[in-house]
Amino acid sequence: MPELPKEFLQSIACCAGYDETAFIHAHQQDIPVSIRLNPFKPADIPHLVKAPVSWCQQAFYLEQRPNFTRDLSFQAGCYYVQEAGSMFLDHVLRSQGASEKALTVLDLCAAPGGKSTLALSAMHPDGVLVSNEVIKPRAEILSQNLSKWGICNSIVTNADPRDFSELQATFDIILVDAPCSGSGLFRKQEDAIEEWSSDLVNLCSQRQKRILSDVLPALKPGGLLIYSTCSYSTEENEAVADWLVSEYPLHSERIELQSEWGIVESQSDRQKAHGYRFYPNRTVSEGFYCAVFRLDGNSSENNHQQRSKKNKTELASKKELAVIEHYVNCTDDHPVVKFKEDFLLMNPATMEFMTSHPRLYMKKAGTRIGSIIRDELVPNHDLALSIHVSQRVNRIEADEETLIRFMKKELFTADGAKGWNLMTHKGYGLGWIKHLGNRINNYLPNEFRILN
Ligand code: SAM
Repeated sequence: MPELPKEFLQSIACCAGYDETAFIHAHQQDIPVSIRLNPFKPADIPHLVKAPVSWCQQAFYLEQRPNFTRDLSFQAGCYYVQEAGSMFLDHVLRSQGASEKALTVLDLCAAPGGKSTLALSAMHPDGVLVSNEVIKPRAEILSQNLSKWGICNSIVTNADPRDFSELQATFDIILVDAPCSGSGLFRKQEDAIEEWSSDLVNLCSQRQKRILSDVLPALKPGGLLIYSTCSYSTEENEAVADWLVSEYPLHSERIELQSEWGIVESQSDRQKAHGYRFYPNRTVSEGFYCAVFRLDGNSSENNHQQRSKKNKTELASKKELAVIEHYVNCTDDHPVVKFKEDFLLMNPATMEFMTSHPRLYMKKAGTRIGSIIRDELVPNHDLALSIHVSQRVNRIEADEETLIRFMKKELFTADGAKGWNLMTHKGYGLGWIKHLGNRINNYLPNEFRILN
């Protein structure tokens, strides 16, 4: 690994809990590999587990880094590979009661989806997560990862933070995992070392404040703002926390920690806002910073604004449901919504959000079931990955080699009933094929294909 820049080391010398010798030494050590299991797709994972991640449920360090791409449990969304520091969000959400009631949550800077999949696991399933990414190709990857997670209470938007300003007092929780100078990931991404400069830190700090001020009107009174970066720089962390509590009616929330976790509690200079720092020499993780704030006021004060314009949605008709029911476990808790040509499965909170915000560009809402053509359903790939796909559909639980050929879109043979079949691994869907007897049509979208 290249040497850490002197200017960088000097700039973080005064940070809470910083120990230069131990910090530099940690940058010569191996990077821990950690995964977080999908609670909606329980499965045995074929990797050797070293230890649990203390601040996150169902998360583990692995003995070594396997080839994740070729692991079919990974492809089926049974787990997510995530840096352990980022998983602190699980402890924050649970300690703030997010698992106990149905909430409307926004993950503003969400791609590739690590914190969004975590939030979906920690929050109450009757709530809705709006997962936003401003950069279009990254929004596509976010959408894929949320499809793999398999549940239907999320919406993917591809909007600028400014677009959320007009959603006055809408969200119970807003997560801003802000773009940053990236020093916390120096061990993993060596090119970030080359790119680091104090100018970049200042630029990021200004951008972070701009993003926060754009989105804050959308937080309900009494709502929670969670701010995080993977930078060590005070300008992007404590100084932003300071600015938040001095500019807005926000107060800093203290999060309970266990001392053996090694997380350092910091305080901003002026306002004494609490923040939580992860250093690789203290926590088994890369660098990370997180701070939590509550907006003054009471959530019952808010937002009974009447929105005049609504997205045109209608529920599937009885006749359409009769076609769909073969493919999806339809229940009263999960309405099937007709939107343009598509049928979507979602919970009522997701439907309500989707209907109420027609000006927000939604790339994906709930789980796409498919469309009905000549009284037959053409199932969508999203449904293949969903936990709501019905046991009634024909399934092919093929061996690993066949499934890899399927995922690479190479030719393969498999016995199956004529028509649509779900290719499964350990019972979880990977994608659809259409069996024509003497031929198989592979419907795996190219974006999900394994390339090597
Ligand atoms: N939360 C993600 C996760 O856990 O997988 C990682 C998010 S990454 C730290 C920051 C994200 O902010 C990136 O996806 C980046 O594309 C996005 N971003 C970049 N510039 C932005 C801006 N001006 N406003 C909002 N988001 C931005």
